Amino acid sequence: MTVPETPVRMPAVFLAHGSPMNAVEHNDYTEAWSAFGKSIRKPAAILAISAHWYVNQLAVTAMKKPRTIHDFSGFPPALSTFDYPADGSPTLAARVADLLSPRAVVLDESQWGLDHGTWSVLCHVFPEANVPVVQLSINRTLDPLEQIAIGRALAPLRDEGVLVVGSGNIVHNLGLIDWSARGTGADWAQRFDSQTREMLTSNNPSRVIEMLNQPDARKAVPTPEHFLPIAFIAGMADVARTSLEVITHGCEMGSLSMTSYVLRD
Ligand code: ZN
Repeated sequence: MTVPETPVRMPAVFLAHGSPMNAVEHNDYTEAWSAFGKSIRKPAAILAISAHWYVNQLAVTAMKKPRTIHDFSGFPPALSTFDYPADGSPTLAARVADLLSPRAVVLDESQWGLDHGTWSVLCHVFPEANVPVVQLSINRTLDPLEQIAIGRALAPLRDEGVLVVGSGNIVHNLGLIDWSARGTGADWAQRFDSQTREMLTSNNPSRVIEMLNQPDARKAVPTPEHFLPIAFIAGMADVARTSLEVITHGCEMGSLSMTSYVLRD
């Protein structure tokens, strides 16, 4: 008698990508991303939500071969020529559009691709680029509660073998970068990061959007695009009625948080 295979629920993860240089460096953060990849079953596909696709509509990459986008300047050739040759998945793109219905979702077959918010972390999680990747844009016209609702709507993907990856930074202020502050954050950055951590590891992680109203948010989240990817993962945690776990933490260069979270249950 064969025992039926028990479906395994995929985790969902928020990875703090920080500098694009993390794609080609090895440090405590990239080691944690790599260890995460090794700790899970290989997904059927990945849905990535990156801070760097922040536009006026919901869209998904729907091409078979998404290009690697080098959406930065001033970095060495190792980055500007970096290739992450993962396939796309038009099937997953259509499924995401279905799940988000009746919201309009553009199936992008030629414009976007994989931006560095996605590939700078996935190159450590899945270095062989052997899992198809679809990106979902962040619609900047929606309020944070609606971003949580989109995360909730994506929750069924966990039971379909899809790993959802949010890529951003809880604290992200490039204007206040202190290049000498290696491995540490300003007081306000550390305070904001640890208060956010308390919320995300509590039994009601979607309250995290209340952090946007904290006084420190003016410095920590001067613009919302790097913070918002956590809202999708928190929405998925809502559905699972559980909290997030920290997989690596810390601040860098005064005004960046590198704290990453996983939803396992
Ligand atoms: Zn970024």
